[in-house]
Amino acid sequence: MNHTVLTGDRPTGPLHLGHYFGTLANRVRLQDVHEVFVLVADYQVIIDRDRPGGIQANIDDLLLDYLAVGLDPGKVTIFQHSAIPELNQLLLPFLSLVSVAELNRNPTVKDEIAHSSQTAVSGLMFTYPVHQAADILFCKGTLVPVGKDQLPHVEVTRLVARRFNERYGAVFPVPEAMMGGAPLLNGLDGGKMSKSRGNAISLKASEDETAALIRAARTDSDRHITYEPETRPEVANLLLLAGLCLGRAPQEIAEEIGYGGARRLKELLTEAVNEFLRPIRERRREVDVAEARRILREGNARARERAVDTLEEVRVAMGF
Ligand code: ATP
Ligand code: MG
Repeated sequence: MNHTVLTGDRPTGPLHLGHYFGTLANRVRLQDVHEVFVLVADYQVIIDRDRPGGIQANIDDLLLDYLAVGLDPGKVTIFQHSAIPELNQLLLPFLSLVSVAELNRNPTVKDEIAHSSQTAVSGLMFTYPVHQAADILFCKGTLVPVGKDQLPHVEVTRLVARRFNERYGAVFPVPEAMMGGAPLLNGLDGGKMSKSRGNAISLKASEDETAALIRAARTDSDRHITYEPETRPEVANLLLLAGLCLGRAPQEIAEEIGYGGARRLKELLTEAVNEFLRPIRERRREVDVAEARRILREGNARARERAVDTLEEVRVAMGF
């Protein structure tokens, strides 16, 4: 089957290993076979902070990361919210399709409120999952490669698509989420690895920075290294990450380390991560910011054509 793939990231900082194993690896794989849209979710930056901050620098960072991991601008369309008015306009009819109670019970929104740096929780915090439905449906996306935190949002999109179709006729496909090798990679403090939570190993970090971050990672006091995600989540997360970088099972790595303790685990992990990221980091140094911005402008133009067509179809279906 031929898919239209949509996925994206907030320009809130450089991409990290959670992104790579949660979604980027899948995007790179899918781009050879399917139509892929990649969204720089700039309007989503203000869901949990009062101002967009150094938005241009963060967008540049994101674009360089995309190109470094191997997203090919000849194959994928990279675009941003703020350049596509017609996409954003879909939010209005879509909001009418969900209830306040449904918006209130979204577990990812609750987690994000807990980590928010806003002075007060804004309306956007509750409604952005519906905005994400507009992101996915403007191009009639059918496949959404995301991390586990996004599953409740993909559910909202599926609800919006189904309800729109019931009320106004079949316009939208009902998309599926696709998870990667690490649906939820934890950060070095044991919580979800996140750009905004200071617990991430970014793809672009230097080898020394990577070593320092891993040295400071939380573990436990048992010298015998075992892979037990339920009872030893911190150690298990480091083993999982080493396994992903080395293409090996985390259990096997644990057995190899045995009584080497957290120190041996961290040494092994540092080497595995730095080795794995070396080609990505090298490519990143070769990409030019002006070229990256040109790619975004071209992507914006392509995405906008799709949004204009979809909004027109929505207007006609609704009888406007
Ligand atoms: P922020 O802290 O600013 O929200 P983030 O690190 O959560 O940043 P997002 O831009 O919100 O990154 O998420 C982009 C994509 O990466 C989403 O599909 C999300 O599910 C995925 N993702 C983010 N963090 C992880 C993680 N730790 N493990 C797996 N997937 C992740
Ligand atoms: Mg996030």
